[in-house]
Amino acid sequence: MAGIYIHIPFCRKKCIYCDFYSIGTNGLEDAYIDAVIKECSLRRNELRNSPLKTIYIGGGTPSLLSPEQIGKIVKGIRSIFSLKSLIEFTIEVNPDDVTQEYISSIKELGINRVSMGIQSFVDSELTTINRRHNSLQAISAVDYIKNAGIDNISIDLIYGLPGQSLDSWLYSLSKAIALDVPHISCYSLSYEEGTRLYSLRERGLINECSEDDYISMYEVMVKELRNYGYEHYEVSNFAKNKKYSVHNSNYWNGEIYLGLGAAAHSYDGKSRSYNIANAKQYIDRISSSELACEYENLSEYERYNEYIMIRLRTTWGVDLNELQRLFEDRFHRHFVTSVDKFIKNELMLLNGTNYRLTERGIMVSDMIIRDLMFG
Ligand code: SF4
Repeated sequence: MAGIYIHIPFCRKKCIYCDFYSIGTNGLEDAYIDAVIKECSLRRNELRNSPLKTIYIGGGTPSLLSPEQIGKIVKGIRSIFSLKSLIEFTIEVNPDDVTQEYISSIKELGINRVSMGIQSFVDSELTTINRRHNSLQAISAVDYIKNAGIDNISIDLIYGLPGQSLDSWLYSLSKAIALDVPHISCYSLSYEEGTRLYSLRERGLINECSEDDYISMYEVMVKELRNYGYEHYEVSNFAKNKKYSVHNSNYWNGEIYLGLGAAAHSYDGKSRSYNIANAKQYIDRISSSELACEYENLSEYERYNEYIMIRLRTTWGVDLNELQRLFEDRFHRHFVTSVDKFIKNELMLLNGTNYRLTERGIMVSDMIIRDLMFG
C-alpha cells in the first residue's frame, strides 16, 4: 500500500513558531497546482504499482485554495492513479477558512478526513503565536465539518506556549474534548532556530515554559485524554475508537509514499528524496520536465536507526521478529543487549516479542532512542 502527500506552501500569515516551508499567497497558486500534477505524472513509477491507500494535502494552508483548485488536483491524481483502494483522504484546514459551503464542496471531491490546527482555545495565546483564527471560529469550524458529514476530524493543540499556565492548558484540553472529535494531536512547543519565536526568546522578550511546566502539562494531557477514551497511540497523537491517522501510521510502518510539491519528501522503501524548498524554482524545474528533488540512498544502519526512532514513538513499538527479518544480526544483537536496562527501570515494556515505551519512558524517549540507535 502507498500514500501521496501534497504540500501546499501558501499561508496568509506566519505563525511565530513555524519552521515549515511556507510563503505568502502570491499569484503562483495555479502554476503550482499544474506543477504538482505534472510531478505526480513524472514520478508515478516510484509507487511501483502499489495500491494507493491514502492522500494527504498538507501545508502551509491548503484551505487557501478554492474547491475548484483542490478539484483540479484531485482530477489530476485520478488521471494518473486509481483511487479505488483509497481509504483515507485528508486535507489540513485553518479554522477561519472553513465555511459550511467550503467544506461541503470539498467533501464532494472525496475528502473524508479533515485535520485542523487549533493550537489553543485561549484567544490571547492564539494572538501571541500570530494565528489568524480565534477560539469561536475553531468551534464553529468543527460544527461545519460535522454538518457536512465528515466525522473523521483531527485537531492539533500545542502546549508550552509563552504565557500558558497549567490551568489554561487544561481549559484548552477540556474544550477540545468537548468537541468530541476522534483524533487529537498535541505537540510541545519547540523553539526552532530561524523562527520569530526563537529570536523573541533570544532577545528576552518572551519566557519559555520551564522543564517542570512541560512535564506537568504532558502528564495532565495524558491523564485527561485517557479519561475521555483517547488512546495514546503515538508520542503526540491520541485517537478514540481506533481512528488512527492511516496516512501517518503508514509513515511509521515504513510504507512507501510519494511527496509532491515544494519541500515535500518521499520514501520508496530504500531511498528518500527531498524536493527543493522554493515554490518558484520548483515550478520552473517541473514545467521543463526536470525533477526538483535530490535522492538519498539509505544504508542499512540508517534504515535501522530510522526504524527504531519511528517505531518506538508508537504504541506498536519494536517487534523482535520483524527486527530480525528486516536487519542483519548485529542490529538485532545491539537492540537486545541495550534494551534490558530500560525494561528493568520500567521505561519500556516487553510483551512477548514486542518492546514499547511506558508513559514514563515516553517522557525520556529521546534519550532511550539515542541509546538504542546504532553507531
Ligand atoms: S498556518 Fe501552519 S504552515 Fe502556515 S505559518 Fe502557521 S503553522 Fe506554519
